[in-house]
Amino acid sequence: MNRRRRIYEGKAKILYEGPEPGTLVQHFKDDATAFNNQKHEVVDGKGVLNNRISEYIFNQLNTLGIPTHFIRRLNMREQLIHEVEIIPLEVVVRNVAAGSLCKRLGVEEGTQLPRSIIEFYYKNDELGDPLVSEEHITAFGWATPAELDDMMALAIRINDFLSGLFLGVGIRLVDFKIEMGRHIDGDMMRVILADEISPDSCRLWDSQTNDKMDKDRFRQNLGGMVEAYREVARRLGIRIDTDRPAATGPVLVK
Ligand code: UDP
Repeated sequence: MNRRRRIYEGKAKILYEGPEPGTLVQHFKDDATAFNNQKHEVVDGKGVLNNRISEYIFNQLNTLGIPTHFIRRLNMREQLIHEVEIIPLEVVVRNVAAGSLCKRLGVEEGTQLPRSIIEFYYKNDELGDPLVSEEHITAFGWATPAELDDMMALAIRINDFLSGLFLGVGIRLVDFKIEMGRHIDGDMMRVILADEISPDSCRLWDSQTNDKMDKDRFRQNLGGMVEAYREVARRLGIRIDTDRPAATGPVLVK
């Protein structure tokens, strides 16, 4: 069905060759995975929601002058992006204690952190994405000291923007994971935001009830994952076309 050349297939997304050199098509799948792929399910409609939520956020970041790989959305599941060389690090920004931080340091879940904390994890499935220090990153050459500075500055700006965005719609941004890449722009190379920002990669708690509105619903078997993602989209004012009553005419082919 898909004639384009597949460049890479990950757990939740596929990258295809783009229409022009230097571009790719990022396709959002419905697959949900956790615990390094040990838990896997297909969650109907998740890809469409993540495509739309990530589009909304990346568009706003671009407008603010925070450089991202996002060019434009192509359809319900796909977006056109700039090709980058992915830096093999997951950058996690934390505002409130949750997840692995609680396990590792014995901090109670929900504790407000004294300040935002940035962590780096080495992207390597075989090793289970271990936490690494800046020393490891520069010593092993995963990023240069200058790139690390840029990554931290980008991460802080993104956290400030996202915290405010979600606060305004009654959601607490507990933590999130981002990935960055090197983008060649003329004769300049710079670090830009890549991948996605969606409820798959963030912890989002309802400000009033502390209800989880993110992938923890899947990790912790809480149910209602797609409903929670849809509520995030709704609060952000994103209108998803599939919200329309079921069509009686031709059926939309996914
Ligand atoms: N995260 C992610 N992908 C990963 C690991 C973590 O998107 O492979 C996100 C996760 O959703 C959370 C944040 O990064 O918003 C921090 O995750 P944590 O280190 O607490 O790990 P977890 O408890 O998810 O294993």
